[in-house]
Amino acid sequence: MSDCIFCRIAGHDLPADVIFEDEDIVAFRDSNPQAPVHVLFIPRRHISGIGEMESEDQLLMGKLLYTATRQAKALGLGEGYRVVINNGRKGGQHVFHIHLHLLGGRNMGWPPG
Ligand code: 5GP
Ligand code: ZN
Repeated sequence: MSDCIFCRIAGHDLPADVIFEDEDIVAFRDSNPQAPVHVLFIPRRHISGIGEMESEDQLLMGKLLYTATRQAKALGLGEGYRVVINNGRKGGQHVFHIHLHLLGGRNMGWPPG
């Protein structure tokens, strides 16, 4: 069994509020939401961070971003939203399996913290 919590969520081995999944991607609500809508999009494939992507992962990561934009529409975020990928400890990454944050339902500040 994987000790990666996001691999376990993707495998339905840990519970999560999954809003979308297909053969490549799983999307589920963040357990500590930072906005009224806060969904995480992960590839099923375990890649620890965007710095560890390989050439063969380019299409998958494009699909990850595209899927997030489709789900943003479905979630009623037509007026705007933010996508964030934290990378590495100094980049604010805490879970080392690639995930794209979709945040919406409130106004976003800039610069981010
Ligand atoms: P990071 O800080 O790595 O960019 O984001 C990790 C995110 O995963 C955080 O927003 C955190 O709230 C979320 N998270 C951590 N553990 C779990 C979990 O077990 N379930 C869910 N749904 N979200 C989690
Ligand atoms: Zn993983």
